[in-house]
Amino acid sequence: MADIIQLLPDHVANQIAAGEVVQRPASVVKELLENAIDAGATTIKLILKDAGKTLVQVMDDGIGMSATDARLSFERHATSKIRTAEDLFGLHTKGFRGEALASIAAIAHVELKTKQDTDELGTHIIIEGSQVASQEVAVVPNGTSILVKNLFFNIPARRNFLKSNTVEFRHIIDEFHRVALAHPDIAFSMFHNGSEVFRLGTSNMRQRIVNIFGPKTNERLVPVEETTEIVAISGFVGKPEFSKKSKAEQFFFVNGRFIKSPYLNHAVKSAFEGLLKDGNNPTYFINLKVDPKSIDINIHPTKTEIKFDDEHSLYAILRASIKHSLGQFSIAPVLDFERDGNLDTPYEYRYKNGSLPHIEVDRTFNPFAEQPKNTSKQATVFKSKNANNWESLYVGLESKGTDPEADFGQMVFESEQSSESLFDKQPTMDAIHKTYQLHNKYIVSTVRSGMLLIDQNRAHQRILYESFLERMTLRKTVSQQLLFPLQLHFTNTEIAVLKSLREDLETSGFVFSDFGTESLDVVGVPMDVSESEVQLIFAQLISDVEQEIPDSHFSATDLLAKSMARSLSIKTGQTLNNEEQEHLVNSLFACKEPSVSPNNKPTFTTLALEELEKKFM
Ligand code: ADP
Ligand code: MG
Repeated sequence: MADIIQLLPDHVANQIAAGEVVQRPASVVKELLENAIDAGATTIKLILKDAGKTLVQVMDDGIGMSATDARLSFERHATSKIRTAEDLFGLHTKGFRGEALASIAAIAHVELKTKQDTDELGTHIIIEGSQVASQEVAVVPNGTSILVKNLFFNIPARRNFLKSNTVEFRHIIDEFHRVALAHPDIAFSMFHNGSEVFRLGTSNMRQRIVNIFGPKTNERLVPVEETTEIVAISGFVGKPEFSKKSKAEQFFFVNGRFIKSPYLNHAVKSAFEGLLKDGNNPTYFINLKVDPKSIDINIHPTKTEIKFDDEHSLYAILRASIKHSLGQFSIAPVLDFERDGNLDTPYEYRYKNGSLPHIEVDRTFNPFAEQPKNTSKQATVFKSKNANNWESLYVGLESKGTDPEADFGQMVFESEQSSESLFDKQPTMDAIHKTYQLHNKYIVSTVRSGMLLIDQNRAHQRILYESFLERMTLRKTVSQQLLFPLQLHFTNTEIAVLKSLREDLETSGFVFSDFGTESLDVVGVPMDVSESEVQLIFAQLISDVEQEIPDSHFSATDLLAKSMARSLSIKTGQTLNNEEQEHLVNSLFACKEPSVSPNNKPTFTTLALEELEKKFM
């Protein structure tokens, strides 16, 4: 048989390599920013259009390239950063694989302008799908500008695979944060669709964090500082009381490179042990300086994973130094730094003798008793004997094959016999209702086959979600004009997120007169939103966008509807009168999907008569 193996042509090899290096516009942003930093730039400007899908441009004032280097830079494995394999063990640059520009040029329209300051004239190169379209001598400023247009123009499948602009833009912001936080000594600016999103002057790390995450961040930061033989740690952790559900503000930088490390993340978390609310994550911005010889960055093409020689010591040192900082700033009890914190006994117990645990039981406690501020009305639903037609609304609703004749209303509860002892108030006449609020959290209602327990918050979210979604998709929204414009302030990241959702916000009924870089003016709000709720809705929306990214079914309209539903819904703990309770129940079952909340959690559960009866056996 004839030989069948062939070498792939370069442009094909480059396209394949591009699949590893360039997943989305944010990958281009990362590679170009890193190249600018490696070139010694002190000022870097990033310009984007349509979340980078149409354009990513990076301009720097770094060392630039000679005409020959400019052409060579697009070849695969062309790099100025390493020469020998040994160099890999002493990396001081971000790049070293020489793949980024070749990969990008294989899947986009690229234009490079570059000049070294010792040269009179610079170079202008146009490359499209790995083919050089032109190369000329040109009058250009010192430094380098690279324009990447129409990403994946020649791989439609990849282009279609890109997410909405909101999501892609969020990824870009993440990359931008990572690079900007690692290099506070470099000035960065970012523009999206013609407007400025960030302008970060040269500063120190603390200022950089504050410039990115907003002035409120400043008082929340606790410095962490520790130098040992194997690592120098510097940076900040967030005070525990400001920890968040989201993991958005967690940054490790190793020798100036952002990395992900579940292992080190665990070290930080364990330093915060006992200080965080359940499920919350600590905020941190931590620089680790280690000998380049002691790490291996080469294990992942996008280089966010890294291998350390001595991970265990690193873990211990990191954990101890964060504990120490938290202690010093009297957030945690002060601990002896030299010893393992786990061995420490809290001060108040140190000189106490052990005593037997003692359990107090409140024998008068009754789970059905009313909440103290919850007066008169609701406690009597089980009293109702007259089965009117109301229950028939729920016939067939998840009834688990119980006798349809068994009317829940006919059941005799203990409360029938001894209402005084069970309820601390005598039921009044108007209190004969079909619903009852339990612990300001659940609505109890009767159904033919048994009992219905509704989570008031989730149910209301479902109701609002469906109504917002309907209005937004049918564009049936009505706005109410505000008497005075409402000015709201946000960080520029937050504004950028809101801006990317502007169209959807407008279809949902918001009207803006101004969309600045740090504030926006609202002049109209959706019909059922009050002015005082606007700030809350936007804040919720921003945090939802942060959390929603991994979800591949992301749609901005859906997210907005969910988020507004969450902001405006009746919360757990809110007392509802009977009309409100009944209205909630009726509206829930008028929904298309009453049984789950917008986040797919159950909105209600039923307890069949059979099950109840079993409990009394
Ligand atoms: P790597 O960064 O891994 O070396 P790249 O493909 O990203 O590979 O870049 C190839 C080469 O092009 C770099 O090694 C560098 O010499 C040159 N280069 C790229 N971007 C710039 C820039 N902004 N300024 C100066 N030189 C650059
Ligand atoms: Mg590079």
